[in-house]
Amino acid sequence: MLFIPRMLKDIALIFAGNGKQSFLVGGAVRDMLRGEKAHDFDLATDATPEEVAAMFRALGRGAKGCSVIPTGVKHGTVTVHFKGEAFEITTFRTESEYRDGRHPEKVVYAATIEEDLSRRDFTMNAVALELPKGRVVDPFNGRADIQNGVIRCVGSPLERFSEDGLRSLRCVRFASQFGFSIDKETLAAIPQTLSITAKVAAERKRDELDKIIGSRKPSTGFLLMEQTGLLHELLPELAGCRNVEQKGGHRFDVLDHSLLACDFAAEKGWPHEVRLAALFHDIGKPVVCAVNEFGVRTFYRHDREGAALARNILSRFRYSNAVIDTVVHLIEEHMFQYTEDWSDAAVRRFIIRVGKAHLPKLYKLRHADAFATAGEPPRPDFLIPLMDRANRVLDEKKALSLKGLAISGKDIIDMGVTPGPRIGIILNELLEAVLDDPELNTKEKLLEIAGKMKDKA
Ligand code: ATP
Ligand code: MG
Repeated sequence: MLFIPRMLKDIALIFAGNGKQSFLVGGAVRDMLRGEKAHDFDLATDATPEEVAAMFRALGRGAKGCSVIPTGVKHGTVTVHFKGEAFEITTFRTESEYRDGRHPEKVVYAATIEEDLSRRDFTMNAVALELPKGRVVDPFNGRADIQNGVIRCVGSPLERFSEDGLRSLRCVRFASQFGFSIDKETLAAIPQTLSITAKVAAERKRDELDKIIGSRKPSTGFLLMEQTGLLHELLPELAGCRNVEQKGGHRFDVLDHSLLACDFAAEKGWPHEVRLAALFHDIGKPVVCAVNEFGVRTFYRHDREGAALARNILSRFRYSNAVIDTVVHLIEEHMFQYTEDWSDAAVRRFIIRVGKAHLPKLYKLRHADAFATAGEPPRPDFLIPLMDRANRVLDEKKALSLKGLAISGKDIIDMGVTPGPRIGIILNELLEAVLDDPELNTKEKLLEIAGKMKDKA
């Protein structure tokens, strides 16, 4: 018997008090059966959304912390906040006719939980727990599939993937998240329904990609995508990295190298942007690949090309500008070649170009890149000399931006320069001088240099 949390029992009593049924459904049941913590609670009921809203509104007047949000009344869903937790409560439904492969044409309410479960994607997601007692309703043997670690469509895979093209991507996403295998017939239906997946809204696909990238071993999902044709459909740029061989210390082709870098970042629990950058950092390589006069493959400017391609890909999937800018910037900067003979000025310029806030992420990307080159941990200290130098330069608190200069635009105007773009040009030249020689960063010395610049202009 599964342990039913107290608040679920409390909520179920409210339904029962109103003569209505309630079931815990979807991911929460699946995750409890997997022995994991449930992270969001979806309930199914025979009450209509209006009845659910009325029940909890009536309660809300008396109880603190209870509120009702009509999230998707059109789809039969109401969100209820109760005892500090959010519950998505959906009236039993069946979904009729998906004419565009994206959205059901219309939502039709169903009479029973069994009917509601039959419209769900996979057997593991089609198990319900009747509340408050916890009786299991499992018409498609989802429990056995969970126990055996198998993902299997409810009913005919070809039909289910044809109704909604996102389901095939959800299938490989779950495989990546849980390390489950995909039933043969379900797997075979994916390549046959790629044209349906093509029609799915970019945001929905992005959310699934994010979950693959957020899983413990993203390569599982991406290799399944490659095997089924989903990779070519969604990310042809990445699919094109297969069999692009590399020389030097590289052991893998560009695709396996990229996946290994992403896995490494995931294993370390590094931020999402680092994982995305690891996945796409060499995506420019197939485009710029050339063979030089010695018969050696070169990938000149693959960082620039890769940054531009990554911007296209991420925009296509409607990532936020903040994510796009960070990932693109990391890719653009990932080829730095630090040697001990860098001057302090070179270190300062590196910090300014990368940006102090991005340094830790860039180091992580480079670490993942180095690991994925040989497939074994890089010397642990390989980035330390640069990190030490950069930290020392940052500790000196010397001017690393216009704001840190000992004089401002106003001082330049006071010298008689007309306000306008010329002020910025002079300030930037002063910063260049200070980066080379921090001793120059005094008001007196900078005014003197600015005076000479002004006279030259
Ligand atoms: P997660 O752990 O990522 O939240 P989940 O299985 O709970 O996984 P949700 O998107 O929250 O996924 O959906 C809740 C439930 O709704 C699923 O378990 C499944 O029963 C059903 N479901 C969701 N999306 C689909 C779909 N595209 N087709 C059919 N059923 C779906
Ligand atoms: Mg869920």
